[in-house]
Amino acid sequence: MQILLKEQTRLIQQLLPMGAKNKPGRSMTPKYITMHNTGNTSKGADARAHASYLSSGASGQKVSWHYTVDDGVIYQHLSDTEQGWHAADGRGPGNSQSIGIEVCMNEGIDQARAEANAAQLVAQLMKKHNIPLSNVTTHQHWYPSKYCPALILPHWDKFVAAVETAYNGGEAQIEVSKGHSVLIEWSKGEEVKDLQSALNRHGYALDVDGTYGPATLAAVKDFQRAHGLDVDGKVGPATWAALEQEPVSQGHSVLVKWSKGEEVKELQSTLNSLGYTLDVDGTYGPATEAAVKDFQGKHGLDVDGKTGPKTWTALAQATAEKDDTLYRVQIGAYKDKSNAEAAKAAVEAAGFEAIIKMDDGEG
Ligand SMILES: [Zn+2]
Repeated sequence: MQILLKEQTRLIQQLLPMGAKNKPGRSMTPKYITMHNTGNTSKGADARAHASYLSSGASGQKVSWHYTVDDGVIYQHLSDTEQGWHAADGRGPGNSQSIGIEVCMNEGIDQARAEANAAQLVAQLMKKHNIPLSNVTTHQHWYPSKYCPALILPHWDKFVAAVETAYNGGEAQIEVSKGHSVLIEWSKGEEVKDLQSALNRHGYALDVDGTYGPATLAAVKDFQRAHGLDVDGKVGPATWAALEQEPVSQGHSVLVKWSKGEEVKELQSTLNSLGYTLDVDGTYGPATEAAVKDFQGKHGLDVDGKTGPKTWTALAQATAEKDDTLYRVQIGAYKDKSNAEAAKAAVEAAGFEAIIKMDDGEG
């Protein structure tokens, strides 16, 4: 029988010296553990590279944390009992009471292994400093507009479960879904289609054509800006992870030709309330598309026939502004029923509704 020994990840201490300008130089009693992802997807941006970065003064930035973890090794940069600058909360508890752990996300890393290593480290630190699991938290917790740890946030529960397993003496294991490629402008293919669909779920209105052109680039940058990511137009692990989150706003979906369902019915009813005469059948066919284009043309929108956030907003405004006053138009009065019916038919042929009312001609 073969006995497999649990491998202990090597920990290398490369502590920043006293007086280093990129650390506060204040002591700390650690009460929390704060998880980060480095945000650096470059090849070679592993734990060792981050240790060199901090040791060489972090390019003059006031930045420092306690540990960097990759799939093979852990570097320690600060003692557990001194403060770092990693949580972006000034002198708040993130910086002044928490141990900061960065998990690498460099190209080629075994992300699941790196997270499992981090979970083991967190469990050890919890025991050492008597920190409860409920105080294991995220950078985002201290600084909500920062989407960090970008790769762990989408499955934070799994990470916490792995920490708990490790704390109880088991082996931390984390399944990480197989990653996407990094996409850049003029990338092409199925993954670009995935990207465009994902952006559309978040309210953009891109053609799902599999080409990462300027419109896709603009949408990616806008999305990155809105999610506290680096606005570089590069769709790497952090941007993919944020895209895979459910859209925050409970707005409408972007509807395009041949969309189907309840939202299409809602669109058709709304258009009908504005004077269009669509079948409310839940299918975004040519008539619906034509109505949308007509509406867009009349409201100064891009006439693309797609119902995205701007068109939904304009529809809502048009509906709200719609005057409920009715102005009836009488066309004529006829003695002969067939003449009345002919007039009605002519009015209808012109696109209006018409009804025939009979009165008894008194007076
Ligand atoms: Zn962070």
